[in-house]
This record gives sequence, structure tokens and C-alpha cells, in this order.
Amino acid sequence: MYQVTSLKAEEFISDQEIRETLAYADENCGNAEAVGKILEKARQRKGLNHREASVLLACTDEEVIQQIYQLAEQIKKDYYGNRIVLFAPLYLSNYCVNGCVYCPYHLKNKHIARKKLTQEEIVREVTALQDMGHKRLAIEAGEDPVNNPIEYILECIDTIYSIKHKNGAIRRVNVNIAATTVENYKKLHQAGIGTYILFQETYHKESYEKLHPTGPKHDYAYHTEAMDRAMEGGIDDVGLGVLFGLEMYRYEFAGLLMHAEHLEAVHGVGPHTISVPRVKHADDIDPSAFDNGISDDVFAKICALIRISVPYTGMIISTRESQAVRERVLPLGVSQISGASKTSVGGYADEEPEEVTSAQFDVSDQRTLDEVVNWLMRMNYIPSFCTACYREGRTGDRFMTLCKNMQILNCCHPNALMTLKEYLEDYASEDSKRIGMALIERELEKIPNSKVRETAAAYIHDIEGGKRDFRF
Ligand code: SAM
Repeated sequence: MYQVTSLKAEEFISDQEIRETLAYADENCGNAEAVGKILEKARQRKGLNHREASVLLACTDEEVIQQIYQLAEQIKKDYYGNRIVLFAPLYLSNYCVNGCVYCPYHLKNKHIARKKLTQEEIVREVTALQDMGHKRLAIEAGEDPVNNPIEYILECIDTIYSIKHKNGAIRRVNVNIAATTVENYKKLHQAGIGTYILFQETYHKESYEKLHPTGPKHDYAYHTEAMDRAMEGGIDDVGLGVLFGLEMYRYEFAGLLMHAEHLEAVHGVGPHTISVPRVKHADDIDPSAFDNGISDDVFAKICALIRISVPYTGMIISTRESQAVRERVLPLGVSQISGASKTSVGGYADEEPEEVTSAQFDVSDQRTLDEVVNWLMRMNYIPSFCTACYREGRTGDRFMTLCKNMQILNCCHPNALMTLKEYLEDYASEDSKRIGMALIERELEKIPNSKVRETAAAYIHDIEGGKRDFRF
């Protein structure tokens, strides 16, 4: 039985409800009146539920698809402006006891180099990341209670926050580790993490169990109910995602939105972010072994539909995607991207020889952070290193309120410009600096509140004089 407020995985992600949703979508996707009503609801910024969004996903009419894209672009502009937040993943350890068939960390993989960073190695990694200009990290680790217990993760977080190198600082640490207990989520919350990210991989229970044949991750219910435990533990920014390519994308898409609706219904706040990773080639893994891969067209449509269905949820694209694909989906609603990522353990401080790789998967976008920043600015985006909301306690529904009241231009916009200015002063190439200074001048004018505009301009002037870390 489908029950959005149930705390049982199989009730809030009901297989029957998803099947009925897909049948409903097939029945209605050719019905112009029904489709028109759904588009109208989205136009009013009311979001869409999983049934409505699934109808649009099933639509093949090119005119409807173009309307979806236009609407997604407009909603992105209205709520997020032209800011794109930048982050990097930091792999702490690839020891793992699970058997995930798509991931090279799986226990049976004997030829991947197993590595776990010491605290000294973390200092080297974080220093290298700070020297690029990163301020926001997502830490990643395999699941291994002996090698990577929660105490290790907490120690790493402490170390990361403590490193101050030149003008560098990591101001927000997001965490992507395996599903855990309420007690452990409380500890992560107390350690000052930003978002807790956990990809569902697939919402299809039967496939989930086959794709995770062994290890603690095999337990579908424990994994699917993790976000409820995280929220019970005090973490109110959580990040969802499915690994596209594992199951049928229409099934996943409906499940993803049902999960978001569930969090909103139970905790009063939906997911902070949604990630849209696609399966990549990796050591011991051939993505063509998964026959549910999605094309770039379908991928773009999914991104646009996420944007119009959950307008207040950030959307993340990693370096799994190429520059070309990222360029295509950025205007459709993406709010965060990673840059200059390494998926190997220790890969920022030391280049790994190819024959002893510890990497999780191949990265498509291999540009440096400065190249990514430069590219964004040339397309008129503001690369943002902002971490202000979380540091000002604007998490969960408090961030949503800012978004819903359209205060982004008086708050996030100046914060983005100030953090970009820090980047330009401390890390940018001459060319990026030149483009960036002009961009900041132009973008300052867009701040509606004159007092905020003047203060932001004064702070930016102070940054040039050597001061750092201003925020609204
Ligand atoms: N061990 C944790 C867990 O189980 O959730 C941490 C996550 S892992 C370091 C990060 C994510 O990488 C996984 O959730 C999975 O979706 C993704 N991933 C694994 N193998 C991949 C592959 N071959 N291609 C692309 N993404 C992959």
C-alpha cells in the first residue's frame, strides 16, 4: 500500500504505485488537455508530483519537450539566477565490504589499489584542493566498519576544517558515506557537516538486491530509509540521487520524486539537492554490461523535469559528464557542479600511475578548476564558492524560505560575487581574472536592494585589500 508518510521503504516507495504511475503516464502522455494542465501547474511554480512529472517524461511530442525546456530555464533563472556553485569530491578510503556490481570498490576486486588516507595525507590533499581555490568538499568513502568506522570519518572532518593554508579554507564539508544509524548521523551533524548525500542507486527493490548481492548495502529498506534516520539525527540538508543506467529510468524518476515527496511530507522539508550520476567505466566495470543506459537527450529531459518538479531543490552534475553534456544541462536547472575532480584516494596531492589505480570511475571532464571557472564566466555564469547559508544556519526549510521569497538576488547573488572575487584574487589565471572582474562589475548592478548593493561593493573592495570571508 502506498503511503507517502509511512516510514517503511516499501510503503513510501511503493512498487505498485510506481507501476500504476507509469501506466497512468502512458495513458495520458498523448492527451493534450491533461499535458496542458500539468504544464500550467508547473508554470505557476507549484512543482509537480511524481504522477504529473511522469506524464511529461513519457511525452514524445517535440513541442511539449521544448516547452519543458523553456520552463526549466525560466525557473532556473528565477530561483537560482546565473550562479553555479563549485565543489570537489575528496576520496578518503576505498576499502569496502560491499559487493555492488557497478562499483570497482566491491570486495571481490583484488586488483584495485586499496588506500585509506592518514590525517597527514588529508592535510596534503586538502592543501592541494585549497591551492586550486576550492572551499566546499564532498567526502567519499567505501563502507567498511573496520577500516572506515564513523570515528575515522569524524576525525577526517575535524582535520579538514582545521587546515588553514595561505588564504585557503574548506568552509563546508558534505558527506557521502554509506547508510548508517541515527546515533552516527547525530555525530556527523555535531561535526558540522553540510549536506548528507546518499544515492539510492535504484529504487527498484528486486534489481537493488541483485546489484548489491552482498554486504550491509544489500538491505534495501535500511538504505532507502537512511534519509529519515539522518533527519532524525538532526541533519536537515540531505541529497538524493539515483545512478542512471542501472534500472529503467522512468521507474527511477518516479521513485526519486516519491522519495522527495516523502521527506517533505514527514519532515516538512524536501531534499536539499538531487544528483543525477550516470554509470561510468571503471576498473573491473564495463558500463555496457548495464543495458538501461540513458541517452543524452533523455538525460537532459530528466534534468529539466527535476527542475520544474522540485524548483527549490538544488541539482548536481559531477565530472562523470563531459564538458559538452554539462554545457547542455547547465541552463536546464543545474545549480552545482564539481571541478577538477579526482576519484582516486590521494589523487590531488600525487598523480597515480595508471597500473595501480585506486579510482572509483573515469572522469569525463578533466579540466582544471581555473579552466572550469573561465568556461562558466564566458557563458555568463557566476562561479560561486559560497557556503554562507549553512554557516548562517539557513539549512532545511530556512533556505527554502529564502528561495521561495525570491531573496536570492539580495543574498546568494552578492555572496557568490564576493567568493568569486576571493577566487580571482588568490587563485585565478590572468585571463580568468580579467573576465571575472568585468563580470563582477556587471553583476553587482543586478542587486535590487541598494543598501545590500553598496555593502557588497565595499566588501569586494576590501577583498582586494586583503580581507576575506564576508557574507550576507
Ligand atoms: N559507499 C557509499 C555508498 O555506498 O553510498 C559512498 C558512495 S560512493 C563513494 C559514491 C557513489 O558513486 C555511489 O553511490 C554510486 O552511485 C557511484 N558510483 C559507483 N560506481 C560508479 C560507476 N562505475 N560509475 C559512476 N558512478 C558510480
